[in-house]
Amino acid sequence: MPERHPTVPVKVGDVTIGGGAPVVVQSMTNTDTADAAATAAQVAELARAGSELVRITVNNEAAARAVPFIRERLDAEGVTVPLVGDFHFNGHRLLEKYPECAQALAKYRINPGNVGSGETRDRAFAAFIEKAVEYGKAVRIGVNWGSLDKQLVARMMDENARAEEPLDSGSMIREIMVASALESAARAESLGLGRNRIVLSCKMSGVQDLIAVYQLLAGRTDHALHLGLTEAGMGSKGIVASTAALAVLLQQGIGDTIRVSLTPQPGEARTTEVKVAQQILQSMELREFTPQVIACPGCGRTTSTYFQELARDIQTFLDERMPRWRAQYPGVERMSVAVMGCVVNGPGESRHADIGISLPGSGEQPSAPVYVDGEKKVTLKGEGIAEAFQEIVEEYVRERFG
Ligand code: SF4
Repeated sequence: MPERHPTVPVKVGDVTIGGGAPVVVQSMTNTDTADAAATAAQVAELARAGSELVRITVNNEAAARAVPFIRERLDAEGVTVPLVGDFHFNGHRLLEKYPECAQALAKYRINPGNVGSGETRDRAFAAFIEKAVEYGKAVRIGVNWGSLDKQLVARMMDENARAEEPLDSGSMIREIMVASALESAARAESLGLGRNRIVLSCKMSGVQDLIAVYQLLAGRTDHALHLGLTEAGMGSKGIVASTAALAVLLQQGIGDTIRVSLTPQPGEARTTEVKVAQQILQSMELREFTPQVIACPGCGRTTSTYFQELARDIQTFLDERMPRWRAQYPGVERMSVAVMGCVVNGPGESRHADIGISLPGSGEQPSAPVYVDGEKKVTLKGEGIAEAFQEIVEEYVRERFG
C-alpha cells in the first residue's frame, strides 16, 4: 500500500480529511440551491449512495436563504452528511448577510481567482476567512486553472520573462496555481484560520497537468489536499480520465478527499460520480465499499447472452442487498464474487474469490459449479441458476458476516 503524503487533519462535521484518515468521497449537487426541497432530496440521494460530504453552490441570496432549510430537511430525514458551500465572487457578502447559512454549512469553498482584484480582493478574501474563523468552519481554497487570479498571473509571468532560464508556459501555469493556493493559505492562516481548517486544491482538466500540479503542491505543503480532475467530461471519457489522474496521485500517497466531476448524460443519476469515486478507491484497495464482482469479459466460448445476464443479475442482486447488508453484516463490503463464463479460467478465478460460479461455455447445457471459500460446494443445473446462486450468496453472507 502506498505511504500517504503526510497532511494536517481537517475536521468537517464528523468527517476527517487528511492526517492519514481514509480518503473521503465527496460530490456536488446540480439542483438550484434556492429550491430547498429538490436540493435536499439530491443531497440525500448522494449521501445514501455513499458521498461523505456534499457540496452545494451558494451563488446568490436565494441560495443562501435556502441553505438552513436544506440542512433542516436533511436532519429531519436523519441524513447527517456535512454540507459544503461553494462560493464565488460574493461569498463574503452572503456569509455576512445570512448567518444561518454560514452556520448550517460545515465547510466553505473559496476560489481565490474569483474574489475580485487588488484591494477589493484582499478585503473580500479577508471578510470570507473571518466568517470561517467566527463560525469555526473549515475552508477549501480551491484554485481552478479556468479562473486564475489575473494579477498573480501577470506578476509571475513578468518575473518568468525576466528570469535567466524562463519556464515554459505549462510549467508556469502550474507554478502560478500552486503559488495561488499557498499564498492564499498563508493569508488565511495570518487571519486566524488554523492549518487544521484548511484544505487545498488545484484543479485542471488535463490528466498530465493535474498529476504534475499536485506533485508540485504536495512537495511544498502539508495542507490536506482535495483531488479532482475538473471538467472531466461525460461517460467513459470522464470516468477514464478522472481514474487515470486520481489513480496515479493516490498511488503516490497524494490526496485526502476526491471528487469525480462527471457531466451526467441526460436523465442519468447524479450518484454516478459517487459510485465512480468509490470504485476508484476500492479498485486501488484504499477503501472498501461494496462486494466486488469479478467477471470475465466473455468471448467466443460464451456466444449466448446467458453469461452476460447471469453477471448482470448477480451485480443487481448485490447492489439491491447492500443497503441492508451494510447495516446487518459488517465486513460484507470486503467480499469478492466471481462470475465466470467457462472452464478456461472459471474454476481458478472462482476458487480465488470468496464465492464464485463458473459456466461451462457455449455448446453445453448450463451446468455451473459453485465454489465457496475455494472449495466446490455444488453444481447448479437447468433453469433458475441465477436465483439458486443468489440464495447461496445470501446464506454465505449470513453465515460469514452475521
Ligand atoms: S473465462 Fe472462458 S468465457 Fe471467460 S473470457 Fe476466458 S475463455 Fe472466454
